[in-house]
Amino acid sequence: MTNETVTLKQRSGDPVEGTAVVTRYAATDRTTRAGAIALGGILLGGLSIVVPGVHLISTWLLPLLGLGIAAYVHRIHARVGTVRGICPSCGEDMAIEDTGAVADEAVWVRCDRCTHPMELILRPQ
Ligand SMILES: [Zn+2]
Repeated sequence: MTNETVTLKQRSGDPVEGTAVVTRYAATDRTTRAGAIALGGILLGGLSIVVPGVHLISTWLLPLLGLGIAAYVHRIHARVGTVRGICPSCGEDMAIEDTGAVADEAVWVRCDRCTHPMELILRPQ
């Protein structure tokens, strides 16, 4: 968990800079966590074969769910906490709490004072 400088891009107008609390995940950690989740789904699906009735669905659904969750977890390469900066719209200090996971898609945040939307862009590492 480190404080990093981030870029807040607006729909129109110049991008502004801010700071954010960022936790980055290494590729090996993401792969290990995703593999554990996928394996857990396969094991639970296999174990559920002893439950009468439920086994008709759980033996294929639990491994599929495990693979889906593992694919999602593998794409998360950072988690962002509080984003601070000066809002380009209202000019006030903003503190956007608990922004969340950063995967491959764009992350949009809103100023906590005027709800001005901005795209959060992390610096590559
Ligand atoms: Zn604002």
